[in-house]
Amino acid sequence: MVKRISLEYLVTLVINMIVFILVARLFINQEMAAHAIFRLMTLNLAISAIEVGLYNWAFRHRQQPVTAMTHKVEAMLKDEEPAHVLLRKDNDYYELAMAINRLQTHQQKGLRSKAQQGEELRLLLSYLPIGVMVIDRYRKVEMANAAMAEFLQTEIKQRRHPYTQDIHQFELVSLIGQVFSEKKSARKVITLPGMPTEKRVEVSVIYTSTSEDFFQILVLLYDVTEIYAVEKMQMDFLSNASHELKTPVTAISGFAETLQAGAKNDPEALNQFLDIIQKESKRLTELIQDVLSISRIESQSISQQKMSDIDISELVDEQLSTLQQMASVKHIVLVNQIPVGEVQHTDERKVVEIIKNLVSNAIKYNRDNGSVTVDYEATEQEWKLKVTDTGIGIAQNEQARIFERFYRVDTSRTKQVVNGTGLGLAIVMELVQSLQGRISVDSQRGVGSTFSVTFPIKQHQ
Ligand code: ADP
Repeated sequence: MVKRISLEYLVTLVINMIVFILVARLFINQEMAAHAIFRLMTLNLAISAIEVGLYNWAFRHRQQPVTAMTHKVEAMLKDEEPAHVLLRKDNDYYELAMAINRLQTHQQKGLRSKAQQGEELRLLLSYLPIGVMVIDRYRKVEMANAAMAEFLQTEIKQRRHPYTQDIHQFELVSLIGQVFSEKKSARKVITLPGMPTEKRVEVSVIYTSTSEDFFQILVLLYDVTEIYAVEKMQMDFLSNASHELKTPVTAISGFAETLQAGAKNDPEALNQFLDIIQKESKRLTELIQDVLSISRIESQSISQQKMSDIDISELVDEQLSTLQQMASVKHIVLVNQIPVGEVQHTDERKVVEIIKNLVSNAIKYNRDNGSVTVDYEATEQEWKLKVTDTGIGIAQNEQARIFERFYRVDTSRTKQVVNGTGLGLAIVMELVQSLQGRISVDSQRGVGSTFSVTFPIKQHQ
């Protein structure tokens, strides 16, 4: 630009010289010496050279802001942060410089919020429990988060690489392959090997495209192991409950029908069958009550607890006296060893239910003339209730299972027929857990059992 303008100025200068010579020839005396013309020409040339210099200097001076703005825009294009171009208000380029400065501020804001969003997304992805992997159209991994690496039990390289380097599980590889060929999203629940146990994982392979040839595949893995386990537990509970309910109902209706069919006329059969019907009705009522208890505890939240200060010894006394009659049948002695005045802040109804269940089991599974003892221990953080009996005991391999719903130890060996639903200890466990406590059993076959429940000490609010 500067060169072009200097050239134009030189052309003007030459024309100026030619015009000067012509004018000199026309108006200046013929006898005027040639050397005088030469001198005048030299003077003209010198003046013109000074003019060119001045012109160039003025041009460069005017051009300076344009050069500065050009450099600034070039730096902005490289996402750099060049300094603002500051011009005087009377400068011709003042408005343009201000507009570029504003544009830069706007661009910086955009870049900063883009960087922040990028950082937020990176953080979100790194903490997300869902495995995320982005695969490009060349079947290469563009990005994968930590959860994905954990699901696949491998280290995923940052550099782009074929997804088959990370994913080896057949079902997963073929599901991704299917999405690539059909260009349609797909979803499936698969099993992935895991430590310590395998995992049920819901896989979503999402096909995303912005144009016909530009597309990406998003692989999402979501651990559904627990959801499946809860679902299975609910299904098991339902089928066990309906099975357990059906047994007494079938017995009641069966014996009632037999009576109607004529057995009622036999006084001995009548008495025997009515006895069975009554026993089965009682069992049915107990079962329904237990099933209702379990679902009530499950649906109650911790905030629904009714906490108050309870004298534990008094509470145990009350429960022992209500169970005294049951114990007397087998001549079992009930002993409360808790000193009076041991007060704890807890939910009375739940603790009552726990004591009732543990003591009644200790009586049910006891020998004649045995004993049931209730003890208490407390530290600064915890308090504990222990129910010890002198009964049949529980074999080591059964001890973990007795807390399962509907699980009953086969008592045929002991020749003791004890009625029960198999839900008592499951209810106790739910209650203990709802009070943030824990339960344990220590038992020896033929010697007896001790059930301990431990709770954290709660301060009166
Ligand atoms: P239920 O007593 O109605 O059968 P529970 O859930 O209360 O159901 O107990 C589950 C099983 O654990 C019982 O069937 C019994 O075999 C065993 N059990 C529970 N408490 C004792 C105990 N104190 N002594 C021996 N066995 C026990």
